[in-house]
Order: sequence, then structure tokens, then C-alpha cells
Amino acid sequence: MKDTDLYSRILGLSDPWFVADVELDTAGGRVDVHVDHVAGVRWRCPTCGRELACRDHAEPRVWRHLDTCQFKTFLHARIPRVECPEHGVLQVRVPWAEAKGRFTLLMERLIIDVLRECATVSGTCRLMRISWDEAWNVMDRAVRRGQTRKKTTAARYLGIDEKAFRKGHDYMTVVCDLLGGTVEFVAQDRKTESLEDYYRQFTAQQLERIRAVAMDMWEPYFKATIKHVPDAAHKIVHDRFHIMQHVGQAVDKVRRQEHRELLRQEDERLKGTKYIWLYREENLPDKHRPTLEALKATNLKVAKAWAMKESLAGLWNYLSVGWAKRFMKRWLTWVRKSDLPPMRKVGEMLSRHLDNILTFCRHRITNGAAEGLNSKIMAIKRRACGYRNREHFKTAIYFFCGGLDLYPRQA
Ligand SMILES: [Zn+2]
Repeated sequence: MKDTDLYSRILGLSDPWFVADVELDTAGGRVDVHVDHVAGVRWRCPTCGRELACRDHAEPRVWRHLDTCQFKTFLHARIPRVECPEHGVLQVRVPWAEAKGRFTLLMERLIIDVLRECATVSGTCRLMRISWDEAWNVMDRAVRRGQTRKKTTAARYLGIDEKAFRKGHDYMTVVCDLLGGTVEFVAQDRKTESLEDYYRQFTAQQLERIRAVAMDMWEPYFKATIKHVPDAAHKIVHDRFHIMQHVGQAVDKVRRQEHRELLRQEDERLKGTKYIWLYREENLPDKHRPTLEALKATNLKVAKAWAMKESLAGLWNYLSVGWAKRFMKRWLTWVRKSDLPPMRKVGEMLSRHLDNILTFCRHRITNGAAEGLNSKIMAIKRRACGYRNREHFKTAIYFFCGGLDLYPRQA
């Protein structure tokens, strides 16, 4: 078999395309495959499909293909142009690459696979012997391709959360499909507008589909959802993990204040106990149990705050809104009457948002369902040194967590 026939088969070329010439550069470690077409064939307008004669050719182009036995392999061709009476002068589609792609379809698919498997851009560059910009370009194109193919439908159960791109500032809003386990939308900042941009892409009818939305007690998200989602007042569920986190922070504040007071009397009882108070009791490692039991028996403020936190965890077992409400009234009174300002403060916050905390009884959703996604996003962030800016971070989230159909397809 001639090398030109061999490459025609390898590339899967069919009439009118054929391999005209193959050059092997052993010293340079590369193979250059020149592809040509038979003369006199008619081509289709890429827009309407009308058959037309070849008008002329575009500038010669090069595509990187899968390596041949570790030799970098390049495909060269001149793409015919047609003049459609309706759509003007256009390049025809070629079977081995997408319009504007720098790689053949097979190479682009492999790069996508390697990116997904090795999860870093730099690793992919090394393995595939491509540049950072080339890898980035494939990723970016893959996401845009996937987003174009994705149907515009709102997820039934949404989880909305903020992510800090850099520690402590520079936030992003992430909208998850809690059932599908995918990231649906990423927006700059954590303002009302950030989330509104998500809702705005849907029709009123599509928004109707949304059954419940889990979120922290964060006013901008609440406002955006109330504004766009029909009957949102009954659909917003303040996320239990966030709530327990706020209460945990209040317990910690009580501990810090009390620890400071005790130290003044040279009492070091609370030293090194931070996490003992933050664990849920059932999750407390056995080695800490004796310490907790001993401290609980004393008349410490933090022990009281801890008891409030542990008691609140009982809320999530209620199935009836009425009983849950009665439970919360009692809990809030207990907290309000306490001499623990941080607990009183968190109690006020829960009291203000009570209606949308109780919606949990009906919808039973939490952002915790998106926990797998969260750790994925955190992992992407840890590798963020490879992502030069926020736009890149965003694209990477969509690439790895968007559940998108990323692969290029033959025209
Ligand atoms: Zn046309």
C-alpha cells in the first residue's frame, strides 16, 4: 500500500478528498500530509446546502492531527470556496475539522479527553505537546459548543451559592441543578443582578418549572429569586448547612469571648477546644468525648451555646411545617432570653428568615446535594494558577462540571 493510500484510510477520507502527498521528516519528528480534492466536483453552500461549483480556494491551511507513531502529524489543504447567490462567498465544510478549528476532529476529541482525565491544562499540554493557548482554545470552544447544544430549560431544583475566587473577596455566583448534579450558570459577583442574569434567559413558562431553590440567607439572591420565579416565597429554602454554619460561628464567638475572660483568671480550660464545640455531637471523634463531657458538666457559656446548636439540628427531622414552627418558636425564645449576645444575634437572623427556613419541611432540599460539585469546584480553584483570570476559572467550571456535550462532530 502506498503511504498516500495508507493516510487516506487512516484519516478516513472519502471522495472527493484524497491524500496527494506524505512527507516524513525524521529529524524534525513530523509527518506532513497533503490533502487534495478531485477537480470539477460540486460543493455545498455551508449555510443552505445548495450545490455549487468551486469558485476559488482559500489560503492553504494546516491542522494538527493525532500523532503517527509519536511523530507530530499535520494535515495540509486548501479549502474550496463557493459563491452562493443567497449567502455570498463562503468556505465549504471539510470532513476532518470544524470551521476555524486548529486541530482535526479526532485530535480535538483526544485533547478534550486528556483535559478531562488529567484535569490540568499544563499536564495536557505536556502529554499532547501543544501550547497553553492551544489547549485553552480547545477548552473554550468545547464549552461554547456544549452551551449552544444545551436546551434552555430551568432545572427543577436549584442550589445557589457563592464562591470566592480569591480568599475573602472577588466572589462568583454558582447556580447548580441539584438533581442533575451539574453547574448551570456562573456569574461574576454575588449581587442581585448576578443571579438575575440566570433567570433572565428563561420565559415565564420555563421559570414556572422551578419547584424549589436552596440558598443561604443572602438578601441579593432572595430578591432576585422573588422577582423572577413565580411563587418564590414558597419555593425558597434557606439551606440547612449554611444555617448550621452561621450558628456554629456564633458558638465559636461565644467560646472566644469566654476563653479571653477565663485567661484573665489564668483559667485555660477552653484552650484548644475550638473544634470540639463545632462538631455535631454524633460526629465527634471519640478522643474528644471525655473533654466535651467534662466541660459540659461545668457552667460554661460555650456549653450553653453548644446545647442550643445541638438542639437546633433537630429541626431538620420535622416533616410538618406546623410542628417545625412550634419547635422554632421555643428555640428562638430560649436563645433570645439567653445572656449570649452572639447566639441572640444569630437567633434574630433566623427569626427574620423563619418562613423560608420552614419551607425545608416541604421541599427537603439542601445545597449539600451539590457537595460533590463543591469539592470539584474547589479542586479546580486549587489548580487555578493555570487559569489566568476569572473568565478562565468560569470556563473551567463549565468544562468540568457543566454536564455539557463537549465534543466536536463531523459537519
Ligand atoms: Zn447558501
